[in-house]
Amino acid sequence: CGIFAYLNYHVPRTRRDILEILLKGLRRLEYRGYDSAGVGIDGGNGKEWESNAKSIQLIKQRGKVKALDEEINKQQDIDLDVEFDVHLGIAHTRWATHGVPSPVNSHPQRSDKSNEFIVIHNGIITNYKDLRKFLESKGYEFESETDTETIAKLVKYMYDNRESDDINFATLVERVTQQLEGAFALVFKSVHYPGEAIKFFIDLLIAVVQEGKSHSCALPFFSVFSAGKDKKSCSALPRTDQDTCLFPVDEKAVEYYFASDASAVIEHTNRVIFLEDDDVAAVMDGRLSIHRIKRKTGDYPARAIQTLQ
Ligand code: GLU
Repeated sequence: CGIFAYLNYHVPRTRRDILEILLKGLRRLEYRGYDSAGVGIDGGNGKEWESNAKSIQLIKQRGKVKALDEEINKQQDIDLDVEFDVHLGIAHTRWATHGVPSPVNSHPQRSDKSNEFIVIHNGIITNYKDLRKFLESKGYEFESETDTETIAKLVKYMYDNRESDDINFATLVERVTQQLEGAFALVFKSVHYPGEAIKFFIDLLIAVVQEGKSHSCALPFFSVFSAGKDKKSCSALPRTDQDTCLFPVDEKAVEYYFASDASAVIEHTNRVIFLEDDDVAAVMDGRLSIHRIKRKTGDYPARAIQTLQ
């Protein structure tokens, strides 16, 4: 029922800092109601993003954020003092619609046992049974009862069947969302993006598509928060699927917060961009781009960076 993600780009943060920021974000979303919580962070020693060999670690628990916090403290193999120069952490509180509240049904959901792709989701995928049947026929083995797991598996299926090696994460996710019906806000993270040997292709994406209000967690809006300085280039863009709004970051270091609610980030920044239906936001090399995927009808409202009071 709540999404929170934090990305530090050339801002050194220990794993302890990152987890603290994520859990604090989740606590701020607690009033929305939920039954389980989870986080997805990088494993390893903090340098691996440079060598394109990341690993992803999931920690999930049924119950309150406090229970997740305790679960994190129980993990023997997590070194909290490791410092990450660049990192993406994603966090979720779940209000179960498909599958009982349990650690395995909590989010992030994953593509496979090695966590190649992970996703957090608010909302409901109404055509998940068909997607699941299709993926099972392709040999995918499901571990949860959630509708969300189909998204994690579908993105891997599309990645494994990509026609060219340089397909970027945003395109991949757009393709996935085109197969989904229902109401959803999603954040993805993947070991495959950092790609391309060059420094960093950050692996954070959000797609928002909303149809109806069948689930109270299906968000009326979704927000992107940035501590960057540039104020101009996203204002009133994009209005159509032809436009991409790029948020240039002049400074070498930047932090992004993605949350389903402004109250979760107000202590970090007051500069926000409200994502709207059909927006896909991606951060790559420290730069945020927002693209609106094609939809059949409807006009496109303008969007701008806003300052929270
Ligand atoms: N439908 C998803 C599930 O049951 C997500 C629910 C939510 O919005 O928290 O796992």
